[in-house]
Amino acid sequence: MKNKDDIRQRIKKARSRQQLSANEFIDGIRKGDRMILGKAITLIESTHPEHQSLGHEIVEKCLPFANASFRLGITGVPGVGKSTFIESLGLHVIQQGHRLAVLAIDPTSDMTKGSILGDKTRMLHLSSHDKAFIRPSPAGKSLGGVARKTREVVILCEAAGYDQIFIETVGVGQSETAVHSMTDFFLLLLLPGGGDELQGIKRGIVEMADLIAVNKSDTNPLLAKKAKQAYRNAVHLFPQKESKWTVKTLLCSALQQEGLSEIWEQIRSYQDFTQSNGYFVAKRKLQAKYWFEETIHSGLMQLFQHDTNIKNAIPRLEAAVSEGKMSPFLAAEQLLGIFRGNMDENSTNS
Ligand code: GDP
Repeated sequence: MKNKDDIRQRIKKARSRQQLSANEFIDGIRKGDRMILGKAITLIESTHPEHQSLGHEIVEKCLPFANASFRLGITGVPGVGKSTFIESLGLHVIQQGHRLAVLAIDPTSDMTKGSILGDKTRMLHLSSHDKAFIRPSPAGKSLGGVARKTREVVILCEAAGYDQIFIETVGVGQSETAVHSMTDFFLLLLLPGGGDELQGIKRGIVEMADLIAVNKSDTNPLLAKKAKQAYRNAVHLFPQKESKWTVKTLLCSALQQEGLSEIWEQIRSYQDFTQSNGYFVAKRKLQAKYWFEETIHSGLMQLFQHDTNIKNAIPRLEAAVSEGKMSPFLAAEQLLGIFRGNMDENSTNS
């Protein structure tokens, strides 16, 4: 008897170790099985070609169930209160009957082993909530690669029924552009006091924002009000947004949970406003086109950089260019010529 139980247990274990088929993944994801969703995301994040191809198949099959969500990008310098804010706003949003997925794009996570969202002590209440799904930033060598994986994860989360997607990023540079290119609304968190230069925020990021919130307003209400006024004045000087949306500056305290419902109301009005003027759909179409082009671009670069003949020719041509013996244009043309020649060779061989 004991033997039979042992065998059953072993079969069960072996089955659970077995790779699911794409359709089994889809079934699990559609049923809201978080473990299966997590496994599918791991496939997308994997560098193993077989995992990647199964991951792509799952993404394609999830596509008909995606899109029905609101995607919110959140940025701000480390320490501004992003995770505290996401936890507070996230719980507020769940209370309104939504299901929330929180993702992150952190180009530094490779070095720091998953800095944002990686730390389990962040977002304690949200991470144990059954209506929330939290996933740290994928690691990767290039920001483009990391961002593309997150873009695919958005599709899986939407197919799993998460109708609100928050994507967090650190407010230090290029990753904002990546988040901006996959979200419907971009929220910038700032600290009370100090201009944007002082806070290390680039002007371009302030221009991208659909809403600016001065967090930690509980620490120094007067300074917070001054910062709010200063940013309101700055925003007035920017050209009108393509969405025709008027950017507001609000105060909040993520810690004291103050000002959050006002922020959420703004986000909701933006959604209504852009859905009625057609911008919402137009922006998503443009974003899809951007990811199509971006993926081709990075795929071609990979093919190019891994080509043996290209690798062999680069040092010689680089040296010729830096010594002024050859123009950069001719050198680049020669390199592209080698690549084109290789491609012709490959197509006649196949
Ligand atoms: P992140 O690095 O941007 O994610 O910032 P965190 O959410 O980790 O917050 C950094 C610190 O600021 C933590 O000690 C938080 O408790 C604190 N903090 C966040 N929001 C507020 C706030 O609204 N008021 C106050 N007083 N402290 C806050």
